[in-house]
Amino acid sequence: MLFMRLGDQLTDHFRLIDAQKAALRKLGVTTVRDLLYHFPSRYEQGGDEAQIAGLVSGQEASIIGTLEKLETKKGWKSRIPMSEGYLRDSTGRIKLRWFNQPYIAKMYADGTLVKAVGKVSGSADKIYLANPQLQKISATEAGLFGKQGAEQKLVAENGLVEPTQTVTRGPFLWQVSAPPDLFAVYPESRGITSLWFRSAIKKILEQKIEAEDSIPAPLLKKYNLPTLHTALVWAHQPKELKVAEAARKRFAFEEVFMIQLERQRERVLQSREKSFSIEATHKDISEFMAEFPFEATVAQKKAIDTILGDMRAGHPMSRLLEGDVGSGKTAVAAVAAYAAVHTRPPAQSFGTLQVAYMAPTEILAKQHFESFIKFFEHFPINIGLITGSGCYKFPSKVSGGVTNISRAQLLKWVANGEIPVLIGTHALIEKSVQFKHLALVVIDEQHRFGTSQRRKLAKKDKQLPHLLSMTATPIPRTLALTIYGDLDLTLLDEMPPGRKKIITEIVRPAERAKAYEHMRGLLKEGRQAYVICPRIDEPDPDKAFALLAKSVKAEAKRLKKDIFPEYEIDILHSKMTPKEKDAVMARFSNHEIDILVATSVVEVGVNVPNATMIMVEGAERFGLSQLHQLRGRVVRSNHQAYCFVVPESRGESTTARLKALVTAKNGFELAEQDLLQRGPGELAGRKQWGISDIGMEALKNLKLVEAARTEALELIKKDETLSRHPLLAEMVSSRAAQAHFE
Ligand code: ADP
Ligand code: MG
Repeated sequence: MLFMRLGDQLTDHFRLIDAQKAALRKLGVTTVRDLLYHFPSRYEQGGDEAQIAGLVSGQEASIIGTLEKLETKKGWKSRIPMSEGYLRDSTGRIKLRWFNQPYIAKMYADGTLVKAVGKVSGSADKIYLANPQLQKISATEAGLFGKQGAEQKLVAENGLVEPTQTVTRGPFLWQVSAPPDLFAVYPESRGITSLWFRSAIKKILEQKIEAEDSIPAPLLKKYNLPTLHTALVWAHQPKELKVAEAARKRFAFEEVFMIQLERQRERVLQSREKSFSIEATHKDISEFMAEFPFEATVAQKKAIDTILGDMRAGHPMSRLLEGDVGSGKTAVAAVAAYAAVHTRPPAQSFGTLQVAYMAPTEILAKQHFESFIKFFEHFPINIGLITGSGCYKFPSKVSGGVTNISRAQLLKWVANGEIPVLIGTHALIEKSVQFKHLALVVIDEQHRFGTSQRRKLAKKDKQLPHLLSMTATPIPRTLALTIYGDLDLTLLDEMPPGRKKIITEIVRPAERAKAYEHMRGLLKEGRQAYVICPRIDEPDPDKAFALLAKSVKAEAKRLKKDIFPEYEIDILHSKMTPKEKDAVMARFSNHEIDILVATSVVEVGVNVPNATMIMVEGAERFGLSQLHQLRGRVVRSNHQAYCFVVPESRGESTTARLKALVTAKNGFELAEQDLLQRGPGELAGRKQWGISDIGMEALKNLKLVEAARTEALELIKKDETLSRHPLLAEMVSSRAAQAHFE
């Protein structure tokens, strides 16, 4: 018998048919460890099953028994194809009927042990179970069911009875001696059942497996966490829910701890690296900022000071600037960029240091390009823009304005340093883009950008560029601590002065007309508006959703025809090409469009100060923090701005949830509420963080997250390279390898 190790392939220990292999692969389960870390999605209680003797018509029943005489038939009068058969337990047998499901008879062999759930139908003397759901179960599981003490002999003819086992309770002979009270139900995939998971995991847990605990023993003790082996048994075969929860807590801690170790190690790694020392003086910076059309807020000034301090130190900065929409992050980025391009490269007589500024969409990249042109008006440098659909440079040698240039030309000027500031989309980090002295990378609304990505960008120079990451995505504190563990955090917690608070109102569908009149008033004053709908228009497989949720295309038509015939209306959604989107945004910007009907694509950063009203249809389909970000679209000007949220349903809870939009002080508060009310699954962008379901559950628990972080920091302080913790080193590296695909 092979000795089992966590890293072993499942196929070394289990005979798997192709369908099972495919299903496991789909679930990401290939090794023994994967299988043991494939945790149940819930637990079911045995023991509520009925016995066949005593069933009465009309009753919903759940019965354990064996299948007999399954066959396909045609209904006597109706000619409807159906399946029929019998279910037998120790008290008798009952007919089973499935109408219109002839294939069921072919799916199960006679003698199969199942749990059947369905309605007892028919007249008193001729009852049958109508369209029962069948769930195959194992003999062991069967022991979980049934009534205490109903000790009866089972006819052994179906061959399921194992003679060595003794009856302790229940109607079956194969009762195990101490049956657990709960059994695990797993996230399944076609081709593999919970039953398979239970028996495979049981097989593993019954052996001596070579598995060192990845949480150091002192920590287990300190936080009173079960050991790996105990926790595995508790998670997969709990005797009571309490121990299952304790086990899940342990695995959640383990995951957050691993993420933290990776982030903290990354942080130490970066602090050892060299970077450009950026030497702009306070005087230089004040001169640059004196040309701004506004006075920087206190929060902006503080952030700028911190950033300049970081970049002076000679090691790469890794900082996250978090601020609500409209808090003025672009200006902070512009000052950081100025400081870089104001600094000469070391031992170099020509040119300046360079800056790359990456935005998630073309629309945003263009807006940043335009903002930068204004910010740098009084400072003669070239600014480039690179997107999938074209390249631009400012200023043109001929006209002095923006000019369209070829990609090759742009790349040449970036490579030789003539273009010190390059703004763009993802196109910016393609291999072909080579900088001469890249000193600062600014990332707008991106989540992960670690050492390896920076190194790719900086390959020409040996030094790592500084990183300024910026986000308006309000996320709960626990999540920020976890995923941004390697970054220093600066909050921009102050809005530029003069901004009026957005008036937010929850509008019931019946009051829509009033909302439109309000909008008409604003349009008459020369303002513009957004109308946000939950979907575009493509047929939705979920009919109920399609019927209820307003679509961009239909709503735009309806508004034009019935409500606002006198105004120009157009649409924006994610299925449009970047060119089409840009064209629409340009026309909206120039006020050639009055009402823009859009999906949540406008969520990220679009800036049209004259748009002062946003109406969100189907509001309950969005998370609170997403609604908050949508609302941020109209925060741009000094006109009074309005946000009308229109839920589809009139439910009290919907209204209560949406009211938080009126009362919350900032986006972070709303993100916390999303986490508590809708659960971690609803946090926007969760896929890209690479955190499992169990890990996400942990995010509800600030204490746990803080403990995992503190301990990871302590450990890394004592053992930077994890050389004294080889198992942790291995686990962290494999996590990092996965994460860096982002
Ligand atoms: P975000 O933080 O959402 O990226 P932006 O940088 O786009 O915000 O700034 C939003 C608007 O506020 C822009 O029009 C910008 O010029 C303006 N702004 C930024 N800082 C200030 C300030 N201190 N005072 C007045 N207006 C400002
Ligand atoms: Mg922005």
